[in-house]
Amino acid sequence: MTKFQGSPKKATTHVNQNEGLIFEKSSPGKKAYRLAELDVPSVDAAELLGSAVRSTLGVMPELSEIEIIRHFTRLSTWNYAIDLGMYPLGSCTMKYNPRVNEVVSRLEGIADAHPYQPESLSQGCLGIMKLLQDCLLEITGMDAITLQPAAGAHGEFTGILLVRAYHESKGNARKKILIPDSAHGTNPATAAVCGYQVANLKSNAQGMVDLAELERMVDEDTAALMLTNPSTIGVFESEIHRIADILHAKGALLYMDGANMNALVGKTRPGDFGVDVMHLNLHKTFSTPHGGGGPGSGPVACKKILEPFLPTPVLVTRADAALGLDFNRPQSVGRVRAFCGNFGMFVRALAYILANGPDGLRQTTEDAVLNANYIRAKLSGTFELPFTTPTLHEVVFSDRLQAANGVKTGDMGKRLIDYGFHSYTVSFPMIVHGAMMIEPTESESREELDLLIDALRQIAREAAENPELVQSAPHTTRISRLDETAAARKPVLRWKGPAASIPLTPDTAAKEW
Ligand SMILES: *Cc1c(COP(=O)(O)O)cnc(C)c1O
Repeated sequence: MTKFQGSPKKATTHVNQNEGLIFEKSSPGKKAYRLAELDVPSVDAAELLGSAVRSTLGVMPELSEIEIIRHFTRLSTWNYAIDLGMYPLGSCTMKYNPRVNEVVSRLEGIADAHPYQPESLSQGCLGIMKLLQDCLLEITGMDAITLQPAAGAHGEFTGILLVRAYHESKGNARKKILIPDSAHGTNPATAAVCGYQVANLKSNAQGMVDLAELERMVDEDTAALMLTNPSTIGVFESEIHRIADILHAKGALLYMDGANMNALVGKTRPGDFGVDVMHLNLHKTFSTPHGGGGPGSGPVACKKILEPFLPTPVLVTRADAALGLDFNRPQSVGRVRAFCGNFGMFVRALAYILANGPDGLRQTTEDAVLNANYIRAKLSGTFELPFTTPTLHEVVFSDRLQAANGVKTGDMGKRLIDYGFHSYTVSFPMIVHGAMMIEPTESESREELDLLIDALRQIAREAAENPELVQSAPHTTRISRLDETAAARKPVLRWKGPAASIPLTPDTAAKEW
């Protein structure tokens, strides 16, 4: 069965030969608007603003309204989106972004609130933050929380700043942070940015923390272990209590990368299994959009011992029961984000939590784990399963069987685009050579999972019978293989010309501009 859904047809005449042609639509003098004649005496702008007055509008494309509308609408249809089809990207938790979240976040009192409104006029917004904080504390089993960080990596940074401030308050910041070899790349980056040395902790044959190795490596210079649980191969650390005890015995703390909370919500709580500080990704576990659709949000929850160090301002309930923001926290690590964080995401995450309720949230976790295990069971003969340890919400295969024929994980990921799906996660985690990491989330139906499974089985057949077809994929997109390094290092994100500078004279300024 094939599924050419959401993929545009092969490029037609005016595309591909010269990408520039389709972008370069400007011609001098075209405009998409007309302003009314001034009905008040015109003023001399130069008199008011002096040299700050511009003499030209700079370099701008000149287009009619319909050309602008078509340009952007066409570009949007060339992209892939969660509203077009499944994103089986492992680790990323690309779940559906419910429309009710969008409706609620656009309510007038919420969307039009200003962060400089006085506290007395912000009680509704502060109430939303308080309720979200309380829900997240209940879900994680932690004691205190900040909603400020703008992403998971930013949450890690904030969490490790808390760890550092805690150890410094005891007179010794300590030197190193332990990180398992299965960790997300942001973990070692965070430790380094916070001034720590990274010590690499080898996983055991089950892909879990090796307790003997941990015991050997933890000492009085260890500030913390940064652990993802369940790990990046989807395995729950069954010895998590022992891990916490080993760290605590040496005065070190346990940081949990909570990006994989989609496998735990409603089932178990990090605060109950020894975690001292953790971040959550609202844009993963709590259904707010990833990038493109809006900013991220990475709240950090911690135990009582770390509470004094939380970023300012801290949300407090005042004596008269009103909510307020407390800036007077002498031991705080300071501010990590403007105002209180990405407020619109708090609203969406809270809408998701309240719409599901406690039983619904537990059900999403169970469905996410069931979906991943369905894929694991159906594809186990087709692709190699490097770790046979039971997994939760994601499954990691390797390309070993297909690589024998010259077809790599990246080739099969690109071929999946031809079948109407976004790729799975390619080559991560690094402890699996040629990793193919799949996370379906609870959002997908059995029918959709079967389409993905069929597509991957078909691709495995192609890899055996016609490897070239897979190696040169995708074949149905506007452009095929990009120079990935240049696309990442030198992206062209902005129109730069070559239209002429548009003169801005007092006359045109008054009449047209
Ligand atoms: C996504 C993810 C992160 C980083 O989160 P961002 O919001 O992308 O910064 C960190 N760790 C793990 C395990 C993740 O999956």
